Amino acid sequence: MFLAGAECPFTCSFCDLWRYTLDGPTPAGALPIQLSRALQEIEPPLPTRLKLYNASNFFDRRAVPQQDLPRLAELSRPFPAITVESHASTIGPMTLEFRTLLIGRLEVAMGLETIHPIAVEQLNKRLELFRFDGAADFLALHRIDLRAFVLLGVPYVPAGEMVEWTVRAVEHAAARGAGRIAIIPVRGGNGELERLEALGDFTPPTLVQLETVLEHCLSCAAVVTADLWDVARLRGCEACRGQRVKRLELMNLTGRAAPFVTCAVCA
Ligand code: SF4
Ligand SMILES: [Zn+2]
Repeated sequence: MFLAGAECPFTCSFCDLWRYTLDGPTPAGALPIQLSRALQEIEPPLPTRLKLYNASNFFDRRAVPQQDLPRLAELSRPFPAITVESHASTIGPMTLEFRTLLIGRLEVAMGLETIHPIAVEQLNKRLELFRFDGAADFLALHRIDLRAFVLLGVPYVPAGEMVEWTVRAVEHAAARGAGRIAIIPVRGGNGELERLEALGDFTPPTLVQLETVLEHCLSCAAVVTADLWDVARLRGCEACRGQRVKRLELMNLTGRAAPFVTCAVCA
C-alpha cells in the first residue's frame, strides 16, 4: 500500500520519493482512512504480507502520527506479516510500540544503500555504518525482521567498482541479519543525479551489471532479489534486453542462477 504523508526529512541525492508526499506533517487520521479504503478494494484471498510504504520513515512522528498506530495495527490484523520502511535513525521506541500493537510479525525495511566510505559521506543520507548496524542489532534483539535495500550505481563509486561495492554491501546487510535484501539500480530523473552525471560523479548502472550483481549474491545467507521497477529505463542492449529481464525475473523467483543469455549484438 502506498500511503501519502509528510515528506522525509532526509534529502538523499538518489531519492525521488518526495514527489509522492504532502508539504506539511501528515494530518492525524489520514493514514488509517487511506489504508481502510485501500483494503476494501482487495479481493480475497488476502496476500500473506502487507507492506505499508509512506515514501518516508514510518517511525517519524511527523510522517505517521503516533495516535494513528493503534488503528493502523487494527487494520493490519488480517495479515500474518507487516512490512514498513524506516531510516535507521528513526528506529526505536515507536517501533516497539507498533510491534506490540500488531498481531502479525513486523518487518522493517531499511536502506543500507552502500558501504563505500566516500559515497556514504556524499549521499546526504546521514547514515554512518554504525547507525545501520546498531538499528539492525536493535531489531534482532526485539525479534523484528529486517529487510535491506542496497543500491547499484551509487554516486561517487567509480563505475568499474560498482558491482563489487554492491556485492559487498549485500554481504554486509546479510551479516547484520537482513533476511531479505533488494538490490535497487539507481535511476536518474530527480535532477540531482543528472547534475552529478554531468560532473562525472554518477554513472547510470546497466542491465548487465544488475544481472552480474544478482548472480554473485545468490549464494548469500539472505533472500536477495533485483528490483525490477522501471527496469526498461536501465541502459542495455535492445537485442537481448527482453531475455535478460526474463532471466532476472527467474532468478528472483527461484533464488538460483539461470542459464546465461548469449547475444550476437552485444557479446
Ligand atoms: S531516507 Fe529514504 S525516503 Fe528519505 S530521502 Fe533518503 S532514500 Fe528518500
Ligand atoms: Zn545484446
